[in-house]
Amino acid sequence: MVAKTMDQLVSLCKRRGFIFQNSDVYGGLQGVYDYGPLGVELKNNLKAAWWRAMVYERDDIEGLDAAILTNRKVLKYSGHEDTFSDPMTDCKKCKQRFRADHIKDGKCPNCGSTDLTEPRPFNLMFKTAVGPIDDGETFGYLRPETAQAIFTQFRNVVDSTSRKLPFGIAQIGKSFRNEITPRNFIFRVREFEQMELEYFVKPGEDEEWHEYWKDERVKWWYEQGLSSDRLTIYTTPKEDLAHYSKATYDIEYQFPHGMEELEGIANRTDYDLGNHTKAQDEFNITAHVHENKESTQKLAILDDDNKTWIVPYVVEPSAGLDRGVLAVLTEAYEEEDLGDGNIRTVLKLKKHLAPIKVAIIPLKKNHDGIMDKCNEIKQKLLKLGIGRVALENTGNIGKAYRRHDEVGTPLCITVDFETLEQSPESVTIRDRDTLAQKRINTADLPSFLREYFL
Ligand code: ATP
Repeated sequence: MVAKTMDQLVSLCKRRGFIFQNSDVYGGLQGVYDYGPLGVELKNNLKAAWWRAMVYERDDIEGLDAAILTNRKVLKYSGHEDTFSDPMTDCKKCKQRFRADHIKDGKCPNCGSTDLTEPRPFNLMFKTAVGPIDDGETFGYLRPETAQAIFTQFRNVVDSTSRKLPFGIAQIGKSFRNEITPRNFIFRVREFEQMELEYFVKPGEDEEWHEYWKDERVKWWYEQGLSSDRLTIYTTPKEDLAHYSKATYDIEYQFPHGMEELEGIANRTDYDLGNHTKAQDEFNITAHVHENKESTQKLAILDDDNKTWIVPYVVEPSAGLDRGVLAVLTEAYEEEDLGDGNIRTVLKLKKHLAPIKVAIIPLKKNHDGIMDKCNEIKQKLLKLGIGRVALENTGNIGKAYRRHDEVGTPLCITVDFETLEQSPESVTIRDRDTLAQKRINTADLPSFLREYFL
């Protein structure tokens, strides 16, 4: 059984320190969230899994970490200034604003009035003054996607790594969109993180690679614990494609509020590299677009024969990290009826994603001998490199197990009187999912845990 309602997730996330409303003490900032002590671990673990799959486990992808602040011209030539907008409508009665394409039956979602303005485009980019003079002209943007810096740094990456096609550039980072109606918790927010790969290929090979990346990305989401009956592939109809896309697949997930996009996989053709390339006639190369007089760059690569310049096509798997966190939480959340009116809430997260890997629990609260042993074990485990290790000195073993089930801790180690009395010294290990318990010699703990987690 998965999460029944968004409220259950929101409540767990706040209570246990996964996700908080930003600027909470001043009433919040709409569409902006902060990740708490456990949320930052979960988010970092998901990022690390993506980076491992994209960069470390392949030999055709380089990494990049570009700035958020972006020269206005980048987003002018990328087409975002003209076209990165959503249709907005105002309710004349209650004065609220909405995305026109999210309105059902022509009625205001707030007050039900049908007296709405004609939809008009609303650009989603955040403008910001760069430098001390705010004259309205010298502004930059907070990037609306991480992708553009990958395109504008294309030649620097190629020149510094000597890559040949096909190859990719991967990046994880913040993006900003002034969404008209942020909603559904961290699903649609104004500040979020993306995990984007731009995979550069020879023109003509793009459609094959598009299929390849669709399959790879679905496989990866399964490895993060998402189940096949909650994932679907949606093929975007031609008339709904983004301005840069020839074809797009959306990986959709059954979130608590509905089936919605988790990741987009677009065939961006040579649209972006072409657009950012200085007047292409001058360079004698062909790409879809060639009007840029302001760029200084030829964003092209020499073909295998080292004679012909080609502007590669690009396939882009672009995943939302926050939506990923929401999806794995949705999937992992379970409430189990223990039969006696008690409910066990458990996050069945994959162990590599769990925020706390191991909890050490003393059988008796504040018992000197037991606590000394707990601390000794904890100090040893902290240095293992498996992630966070917690000591839970609540004294009530049942409660301690519940607390850790609720945040998805895969293993609990209990130190009891036998630990102190027996030789060789041993502890109990309890498994979150099977609830099975077994005794293990304390001396064997490091190798056991390393093997289990790494
Ligand atoms: P949507 O149609 O839901 O607005 P999109 O098609 O505009 O999304 P893309 O531009 O393809 O989204 O961005 C790639 C990914 O970035 C999305 O699949 C999503 O996971 C994430 N993303 C986009 N906008 C937001 C947002 N406002 N809040 C959280 N994640 C987002």
